Amino acid sequence: MSAGDLGVVLKTTPLRESDLVVTLYTESLGRISAVARGARRSQRRFAGTLSLLVLGRYQLGRPPRGDMWGLEGGEIVREWTQLASDVVGVAHASYVVELVGSLLPPESPDPIVLELVVAMWDSLVEGGPSPAALRSFELALLDLAGHRPALDTCAACGGAVLDGGAVFDPTRGGAICRSCAAISRSPGVRPLEPSTIGYLAAIAAHDNPGEARVLDTDPRFANADRAAGRDALVTMVSLLVGRPLRSLEYIAKLGAAARRHDS
Ligand SMILES: [Zn+2]
Repeated sequence: MSAGDLGVVLKTTPLRESDLVVTLYTESLGRISAVARGARRSQRRFAGTLSLLVLGRYQLGRPPRGDMWGLEGGEIVREWTQLASDVVGVAHASYVVELVGSLLPPESPDPIVLELVVAMWDSLVEGGPSPAALRSFELALLDLAGHRPALDTCAACGGAVLDGGAVFDPTRGGAICRSCAAISRSPGVRPLEPSTIGYLAAIAAHDNPGEARVLDTDPRFANADRAAGRDALVTMVSLLVGRPLRSLEYIAKLGAAARRHDS
């Protein structure tokens, strides 16, 4: 058996009576699905590595042509399972892996992806859930997926968008200037204020999601900009994925419950 491939589990799905299909993102293979035989009966071979919030080494058996990988075993490299009691933290952590599983193409590994996931989980453990960290992660994954949104220039003509009247059009690639906005009519188009552009540009200036979290309390930005920035990126992500993201709906539900609680 090889030393194993560093990775994280994105999803597990029951298969037949006793098996699991495990969707992984690994350093050398990218996103793959592997069959873990007998994993519904006993997970001893997998030593806790089939859970969320675990970075593991996974022993994968090469499939015959056209067949799925086999997951033979795993060992934990790092874990962030102390987050398990933080409902919002777990929701953010789930969103992170759901985005990796939904936005990135299969079997196209990029080492930065695991670094970003680890940075997000570190950030959650060290400072708790952070909207700015999530936005930073969304921007990074959109970039990796080839859909980095235009923010400070028009996605259609390259012109300036900061002089007002701009919109965010997720199907046309992000910020659209006032004159190009006339033909932005698809669902999901929304006004884009210069202050929201400033907020998203400040997020984009941070490479590490954990560092972006200072923007949660940065007095230069109003909560309306944070909400508008979130809505713009989340709409773009959802359109690209083409179906609702379960973890995102859950985060929205938790947010609504918290607001009811506060009022
Ligand atoms: Zn334009």
